[in-house]
Amino acid sequence: MTFESFELHARIMAGVKSAGYRTPTPIQRRVIPAALSGRDILGLAQTGTGKTAAFVLPILQRLSSGPRGRMRALIVAPTRELAEQIHGEIRMLGQATRLRSATVYGGVGMAPQIRALRGKGRAEIIVACPGRLLDHMNRGHADLSNLEVLVLDEADHMFDMGFLPDVRTIMKQVPTTAQRLLFSATMPEDVRHLANGVLSDPLTAEIGHRKPAQTVTHALYPVERNKKTEMLKHLLREHDPRSALVFTRTKSGAKRLAKQLDSENFFVTSLQGDLSQSKRQKALDGFRRGDYHILVATDIAARGIDVTRISHVINYDVPNTVEAYTHRIGRTGRAERSGEAFTLVTQDDVKMIRSIERSLGTRLERIELEAFAWDDTFDSHHPRKSRPNRTGVGRRGDGRERSERSTRQTDGRTHNRRYRRSRNGPNKQRNTSRAGQQATREA
Ligand code: AMP
Repeated sequence: MTFESFELHARIMAGVKSAGYRTPTPIQRRVIPAALSGRDILGLAQTGTGKTAAFVLPILQRLSSGPRGRMRALIVAPTRELAEQIHGEIRMLGQATRLRSATVYGGVGMAPQIRALRGKGRAEIIVACPGRLLDHMNRGHADLSNLEVLVLDEADHMFDMGFLPDVRTIMKQVPTTAQRLLFSATMPEDVRHLANGVLSDPLTAEIGHRKPAQTVTHALYPVERNKKTEMLKHLLREHDPRSALVFTRTKSGAKRLAKQLDSENFFVTSLQGDLSQSKRQKALDGFRRGDYHILVATDIAARGIDVTRISHVINYDVPNTVEAYTHRIGRTGRAERSGEAFTLVTQDDVKMIRSIERSLGTRLERIELEAFAWDDTFDSHHPRKSRPNRTGVGRRGDGRERSERSTRQTDGRTHNRRYRRSRNGPNKQRNTSRAGQQATREA
């Protein structure tokens, strides 16, 4: 299937071309034809699958004809970052259509939003977070009576963040004739309930549900509790990522870790819920541009981040749920690019790791670095064959993993690189740090 087969308007195809999309992703192949026919959609897809374009393209097609200067499509998203990302995709794909899109979320001034909602520069497409949109509705700024399409994106996150009551209130103002699309990476009971109430005879498209992108290479690194930061620094120096997202469990943890890395001259910034919108945007823009190679974030803060070239996701703290693991890992290896995902595992995390593995139906590779790993074996039925490793550079846990790994192409590349670097010694490649950059520039 090609984009041509959707018979999109030439102006929209121009946007697809300039975005560089050659072939539709699986979620796009399934959703776009049904959405173009006007059907409601229940999309079970995580970020990284191309789900945004799957709903944006049919919206652009529908809105290309018909009246301008009033809100005809509304996309509700849980975070400002996700709203900005969707808005960016609309602008990119719809640049030749002259349709206007605007974002509506808290933490920034009301006036430009009011202009987009009911002023002269009224937008046809609004991408909104529930709280601020409701605020505008209550003040009489937002009129949903002309809506033709409504999208609820990342519905599971809206639920996690306590937005479902707001979403239900918003839904009461949406005309019954409007087409509705709901996307969610997971389907907890409350979201299923919402979907049942909101959608009518939907097409269900389930893509990559609960399975992280196939292009991601996963590895678990057993580590003593008190050596996590040292190990993280070691991995950052060893792998020298250009774009690494490091996850911590708490806001204070993210702040502290970023500070520690910064003091050791890593190009690092952090993202946590406490930041003002302008600081968040600054951190994100800097990370996107490559000024920062490392972004330390909590799950909530990282929602909706779309940096296409994230090369590494590092779980400094193991996530609390399998879904969170999938979401985090979904940040790398996007749209068929390859990425690596490392998880630091202490003895306390073994139970969680086992349930992640059970749920994914696969055993994740263990890489034990002598200098950091705990003494016990991770899996008593696969005893670790330990030998001293002065450089602290990775070895596989056992022969079975090695053969599994060598069957996969991306793994082979990683494997070789890791061993090549190990011969160089751990201090040779430190380009993630400012000192290393300087040295490289001078060389
Ligand atoms: P999403 O799942 O919407 O967050 O998309 C993930 C990334 O994939 C975004 O950066 C998109 O620009 C990109 N993308 C979406 N559709 C395609 C496609 N058909 N081909 C290549 N990249 C795509």
